[in-house]
Amino acid sequence: MARPLPPSEENAGVSVELSAVSFNSVSTRIIACVFAATVLSTAIVSALCIHAIHLDLAGRIVASFSEIANARVEAWNARRAELAALVAAESAVGSPWQAELGRARADVDARTALGWRAPDAPEASGLSLDKLLAGELPEPPAAIAERFDVLFFGHPDALAASADGCISIEADVPAESGGTLGRLLGCVARTELDALLQPGQAAPSSSRVLVANLHGTVLAASGPGAPTRLADTIPVPDLIRRGGMELSDYSDAAGRALVGLAVPLGRTGWFLAVEIEHARAFARAIDVTRTIFIAAVVVVILFSLIAYKITAAIMQPIHALSSGAQRILDGQIDHQIPLPAIHDDELGLLTRTFNAMMQKLRSNQIEIERDRLRLAEKNEELQSANEVLNQLSITDGLTKLHNHRYFQDHLTREIKRVSRTNAPLSLILVDIDDFKQLNDSYGHAAGDEVLISLAAIMNENARESDLIARYGGEEFVILMPNTDLAGAVHLAEKIRMAVEATRLIIGDRMKPTDVTISLGVALYKGNRREFFAEADRALYRAKGAGKNCVIIAGSDDAPALS
Ligand code: GH3
Ligand code: MG
Ligand code: MG
Repeated sequence: MARPLPPSEENAGVSVELSAVSFNSVSTRIIACVFAATVLSTAIVSALCIHAIHLDLAGRIVASFSEIANARVEAWNARRAELAALVAAESAVGSPWQAELGRARADVDARTALGWRAPDAPEASGLSLDKLLAGELPEPPAAIAERFDVLFFGHPDALAASADGCISIEADVPAESGGTLGRLLGCVARTELDALLQPGQAAPSSSRVLVANLHGTVLAASGPGAPTRLADTIPVPDLIRRGGMELSDYSDAAGRALVGLAVPLGRTGWFLAVEIEHARAFARAIDVTRTIFIAAVVVVILFSLIAYKITAAIMQPIHALSSGAQRILDGQIDHQIPLPAIHDDELGLLTRTFNAMMQKLRSNQIEIERDRLRLAEKNEELQSANEVLNQLSITDGLTKLHNHRYFQDHLTREIKRVSRTNAPLSLILVDIDDFKQLNDSYGHAAGDEVLISLAAIMNENARESDLIARYGGEEFVILMPNTDLAGAVHLAEKIRMAVEATRLIIGDRMKPTDVTISLGVALYKGNRREFFAEADRALYRAKGAGKNCVIIAGSDDAPALS
């Protein structure tokens, strides 16, 4: 089982980063990008399509309207010529009507106009003399009566005002004596006008044909809603732009948006305009725009959905990878990241590589763990070897007592302690008597045995807290914390007696050998060097006093006990 990785501060930092998925995430950015790209491209294509359709439609309307306008202008000119010829024929010199007109003309002031109106003709403006002169204008011939709603006869200056508001034909009436009797001005009959203004089969069904004067006032209109257009105004200067080859946008008195164009109507000073309501003219464009808008919305939704799906397919393994990485950060290094549904792509490769990497990491960790255990074992061995070594370095190899070096260190510690506690500290120096001789007599091996035996005797008699060390050669020290001089002397004597009483069988000798020791005892008085020197001097004096005795430092040469 793999050991979990310890969480660290670095890991914690990474973990925060991995879990921080925000609106700034890759998926949000991809979806936003696709959305923007789709909306933008759809909007551009749609706008271009709509513009092209608009242009095409406008072109068709212009073509159709131009055709209507031209046809109507031609028809108007022909009809005008025909009516003018008719009027001229009926009022020619010698005709009955011309004679009647001549009589009537003689009765009125040259500046007034004579008027005749067909029984059901609409009121025309400027007929202020109608009542006054009613019946005085002779009945026109039937051919003229059925073609004109109103006829004026009089001086040309007076006629201009009378004819305002009607589509008129003018003709001079010759006098028998030469010159003119006056001028005839006829408002073309409504039925005539209607026939003239009919847009024709080719025109859009809802188009209207209008005749307007220079001020744009509509004098005549035909087509749907024609009566509402009478006396309304149209922007003639706009409508005749580019010779009636371009559509203009304008609106009627009710605010309805219209498109149209106009052409001059011969030399009358009037204009023939063709118009249609904007909504009807561009109904197809509006339909197409609506269709394009719906298609665009569908395309945007569709592509956004596709982008969402693709992003989800990309992000799912990435999320799995990051959450896997998170779990590994949390210490679960045996976690395997499941392969994505589509796993033969880059993400699948990434996931497989990641898992392989983790596999490798796990085996490395197992290896490291094994090495760590081996190292710990080695460490333990080394430690115990060190301990042994350490023990050896402070132990005397022969007697197994502490050695000189350890004694010195221990003495340092004890002196420090004494300086703090003021507890008594005593020292015994032990030296085997005539040891050289013993060596000489029985050999060094026998001497060694004696040293070992003496160490055992001292160990038996001393306290746990006492330190016994081999000072060098056949000399030993016993350091006794919390022991005053009397206690030290007591121990020294006890050891001396024990040695004296011990009958040593050395080597293969059958006869026991007597060994004695001399001891010097001192009490610590604040000076380390003096402490040891006193014990040494006491030992020296013990030798001088005949050996096998205990001498206390600073006392006379007499052994401590008899
Ligand atoms: P004294 O009573 O005055 O002490 O006489 P002594 O013979 O003991 O005097 P000295 O100190 O001169 O002799 C010490 C001898 O101890 C000399 C040396 O051969 C012997 N010796 C020192 N270390 C060892 C040891 O490890 N083993 C043996 N067998 N002998 C040792
Ligand atoms: Mg000695
Ligand atoms: Mg000696």
